[in-house]
Amino acid sequence: MGNAAKRHDYFRWQCGQLRDVDPNELGDLYIPAGVRSKLRLLVKTAAADRIGGEMIRVILTAAACLALFTGMSWAGRASAADNITTAEAIGFSQSGLPLMLYRLGGGPRTVLLLGAQHGGPEANTYRLVQALLEHYQSSPAEIPASVSLAILPAANPDGLAAGTRRFLSGVDPNRNWGGPGWEPDGWDSNGRFEAGLGGPEPFSEQETRALASWIMGNRPALVINYHSAGGFMFGGRAGSGAELADAYEYASGYYRPQPVSGQRVLSYRVTGSMNGWLGEQGIAGMLIELTTPWDSEFGRNLAGLQAALAVLDRA
Ligand SMILES: [Zn+2]
Repeated sequence: MGNAAKRHDYFRWQCGQLRDVDPNELGDLYIPAGVRSKLRLLVKTAAADRIGGEMIRVILTAAACLALFTGMSWAGRASAADNITTAEAIGFSQSGLPLMLYRLGGGPRTVLLLGAQHGGPEANTYRLVQALLEHYQSSPAEIPASVSLAILPAANPDGLAAGTRRFLSGVDPNRNWGGPGWEPDGWDSNGRFEAGLGGPEPFSEQETRALASWIMGNRPALVINYHSAGGFMFGGRAGSGAELADAYEYASGYYRPQPVSGQRVLSYRVTGSMNGWLGEQGIAGMLIELTTPWDSEFGRNLAGLQAALAVLDRA
């Protein structure tokens, strides 16, 4: 490995050590979500620790993170970020953070990946989706020709930054969808019943509306919504959705509960979920629950995703 590549890997590792903190310190500056979360910590560290050497380390790390995540070159090395086709804010959170969606690959069948719908407590899903984005940036040839990826690492940036599951309003991001089962009150994914969890009406929240409208406009062939930490997955049981879910299940090894007639798979009733709405729209959806709240489980999810992309490419 050359020196430039080693340095690249070192800074990549260092960036990976940083954790998400307070969202508001960077105001309304337009910064991709991945960079924003890292800079926030650096700003905080710099403020708390005014020792010169430490400050220099912090500034160097900030520069390296920027180089890695925004496509500037570091030590003459072209950044893999060049392989992103588009990076756009498809909407804004209630506190004004952009919902950044990155597109890679040029095929007509779009696969949408979502991280951190349940914010901070499920931040490992943000790290997973961010890692998948970086993987395909550096290995774009692994995206089949008929497929393109649409990647939204932080579906609930307010919750991610504040360390909460919900939107700023208190509504649950996965109970607000206007599918067949929406209700204003509901059970959260810890099985706790709460009034107002679904919002005053379906799609009452601006994040839900932004995402739904992107989905209606782009008609993805598959949506994968990452959560933690149930250690199981849900996917279609018929048609092409079942084939995709089978492929993901076998390659990733996640437990996929079989529905038994008259029995619920979960101990509580799920209302207003994104998957319910996707089913109604005829769009294949999967929900993957990582096994723990800390590990991104990158390897097995990359394997699952590759298997599903191969199925789509053959379709
Ligand atoms: Zn969740």
